[in-house]
Amino acid sequence: MAQTQEQTVSTGDTPFVPIEKIVSLCKRRGFVYPNSEIYGGVSGIYDFGPLGVELRNNIRRFWWWSMVQTNDNIVGIEGSIITHPRVWEVSGHVENFVDRLVDCKNCKRRFRYDHLPEENVRQNKCPVGGGELTEPRKFNLMMETYIGMLEGERMKTYLRGEASQNIYLDYDNVLKSSRMAIPFGICQIGKAFRNEVTPGNFLFRQREFEQWDLQFFVHPSQMQQWFDYWKERRFEWYKSIINHKDRLRFRAHGPDELAHYAKQAFDIEYQTVLGWQEWEGIHWRQDWDLSRHSDYSGQDLSYTDPETKERYIPWIVETSGGVDRTFLNLLLDAYEEEPPSGKDKEGRTVLRLNPMLAPVKVAVLPLQKNKEELVTTAKELHHKLRRLMDSQYDDVANIGRRYRRQDEIGTPFCVTIDFTTLEDQTVTVRDRDSMSQIRLHMNEVPAYLLERVR
Ligand code: ATP
Repeated sequence: MAQTQEQTVSTGDTPFVPIEKIVSLCKRRGFVYPNSEIYGGVSGIYDFGPLGVELRNNIRRFWWWSMVQTNDNIVGIEGSIITHPRVWEVSGHVENFVDRLVDCKNCKRRFRYDHLPEENVRQNKCPVGGGELTEPRKFNLMMETYIGMLEGERMKTYLRGEASQNIYLDYDNVLKSSRMAIPFGICQIGKAFRNEVTPGNFLFRQREFEQWDLQFFVHPSQMQQWFDYWKERRFEWYKSIINHKDRLRFRAHGPDELAHYAKQAFDIEYQTVLGWQEWEGIHWRQDWDLSRHSDYSGQDLSYTDPETKERYIPWIVETSGGVDRTFLNLLLDAYEEEPPSGKDKEGRTVLRLNPMLAPVKVAVLPLQKNKEELVTTAKELHHKLRRLMDSQYDDVANIGRRYRRQDEIGTPFCVTIDFTTLEDQTVTVRDRDSMSQIRLHMNEVPAYLLERVR
């Protein structure tokens, strides 16, 4: 489907959040900035600001914890961005990693051929103005680079177009150095680069982005069971971090989309203002990657079962998703504008992020800035809390405005130090979502918060 930022689909009770609102919040509050902005920017490339980097780290950490730290049969690696160029020839990327593009002869807009609505393909018509389209042209997505200084000795290679190739390259080393036995998996989080010809929709389609991959190696006879297992587990993982559970679904790949070696493939899709879009792919890779690298490198990548002595090339279940799409989807999922109601005269913008992922977990606020005892007590509590979690101290503006600022960046708790605190050491703990407040003794605050934000 053609994707445009203007689409404002709305189904169900909660309207979808326009991307522009997220772009504006991200810039205003220090989540994401356009890259090289003072020179006019580079499309499809972004920088992450102080809050963005915290949210990203929390997202990555949660994935790593779920995939590597809590599974005995999975280990992690961190591979390089630049590899030997043969890798990309053998993987098929140099020849086949292409987008087919068409241009409208009238309005000059450019579209990915595989994203055009069927009817427009049939009629060869532009989906925006109805103009005639050019023949599809192929563009390779790999980003080229060169290693070496001297002319004649320079080697052309590529910034990796997907992170997973490193896992196939390191598979044998991991096997020999980590005492893993099949079935086992290797995970990686890392940058990938694609010369996307139609980057857009903010972080959704970038030229530099980050992927997370699991490659799970199995005996061929166990392929189906592990494929089903990871398909369900990854779906539940995404479900656990979003509020709008009904906006998550599987989409099975049709026969024309499947690679020749794949019995099946699924996308986990999330529905936003852009429509249903891929968030993560679950792929049946069979023995394709290891067999190719084995054949072309001459290194035997087969596995010998330690008990049965059976020798075979392991089959692979791949789950491959994106850190940046997770970042964007979580913001789209969490963003809400609440109208004024009851005592709340102004209304508020609130990011209902999962507390575990929120960039700031708690804000410590002295009721008044000009009362030294309040400020000192608040700073002491903040210093104690920040060793345990992301804590922010804020004493600028009235308390209502400070609550609003924290709601807008998704801080799940605010702790207010007031005059009663100075008498009995109790503080107010305010909950972001319900805006309800309770009073706790200061000593109870760290345990109370830790239980809710970890
Ligand atoms: P699409 O069909 O959207 O181009 P893809 O099928 O090429 O995606 P994969 O190669 O399977 O994507 O990459 C795995 C994951 O990496 C995707 O599910 C997505 O989350 C993320 N991803 C892929 N391309 C981009 C991009 N250009 N910008 C941001 N994230 C991306």
